[in-house]
Formats: sequence, structure tokens, C-alpha cells
Amino acid sequence: MKNTKKINKIMVILLIVILTIGLAAYISNIISTQTAKAETNEVIQKNEAVYNVPDDDEDSYIHQVETEASKSPTVYITNTGSKYHRSYCQYLSKSKIDILKSDAIMKGYGACSKCSP
Ligand SMILES: [Zn+2]
Repeated sequence: MKNTKKINKIMVILLIVILTIGLAAYISNIISTQTAKAETNEVIQKNEAVYNVPDDDEDSYIHQVETEASKSPTVYITNTGSKYHRSYCQYLSKSKIDILKSDAIMKGYGACSKCSP
């Protein structure tokens, strides 16, 4: 009878150990699955970010080019005058030198009040 009780006790302990190991394995499996899911989401988000960046860059690049072009159109100066003009301005009858608007401003030329370039 004494031996049987001892065996029962060992069996109970073994059962508890097995259950504990099983539970631990189950919990760690859930955690690793969640981690894997989180990593997958992160990878997807990174891929989307990488995919989106060139689009934004392209848009801003085009926008920048457009802004640059509208900022510095070609204007016309004369040999003698201190103003810059649009190509059709009547003041350009004597001489007509094409120059970027930004360059003309940088060289001290002012906008013609007649054609307002
Ligand atoms: Zn003018």
C-alpha cells in the first residue's frame, strides 16, 4: 500500500510537469506566432513605404522643375536699358538679348512697367 501511494504521488507530479511543459510550449507557440505576424506586417509596411517613396519623389521632382521653370522664364534685355522685357515689348526694337529672369534680376535689371514680365 505504501508503494502504491508513492507511485501515485510520482504520477501526479509527472502529470503536473507534463501539463506545465505542454502549457509552456502552447504559450510560447502563441507568442512566436504573434511575433511572426507582427514581423510580416512590418515587412509589408516597409515594402509599401519603399514602393511609395519613388512616387512622392517623382511628383516633387516634377513640381520642382515646374516651379523652377515658372520662376525663371526667359526675358529680354537691351544693350542700353536697365529693364527686362517680354519678347513682344516695343522697347526691344533696338536690341534684344535673351536672359533668364533670375539672371536679369541678379544683374540688377528691373521689370519693365510696360510689358510687366
Ligand atoms: Zn517691356
